[in-house]
Amino acid sequence: MTNAMEDNCHGQIFKADVQNYIIKRGFGFAVRMRKIKKFSCPGCERCGWQHGYISDMAGDGDIQDIESVEHGKLYALEICDEEKNPETGIVETWYAKLVRWEQPK
Ligand SMILES: [Zn+2]
Repeated sequence: MTNAMEDNCHGQIFKADVQNYIIKRGFGFAVRMRKIKKFSCPGCERCGWQHGYISDMAGDGDIQDIESVEHGKLYALEICDEEKNPETGIVETWYAKLVRWEQPK
């Protein structure tokens, strides 16, 4: 069971909840990404980074393109924009982006 899940791991799956609202002197919008437990991996070696990334995000807010998610659609997290140290080849900084995810048939 655990191994099968790990082979098909797509990490945590989120549903976008985008809301526009009016404020006293203008307007704004809010994006909430709600984790969908039944589609999400409970955590394995492949997606373990996501838990830490999400809890760190509150401070850094570095999810790429979060403004462009579509309301009601499902998204997974993917690593992008790795920056390697040119001398050591070790990845020093990287970001996660949201990618559309479809429920497998
Ligand atoms: Zn996983």
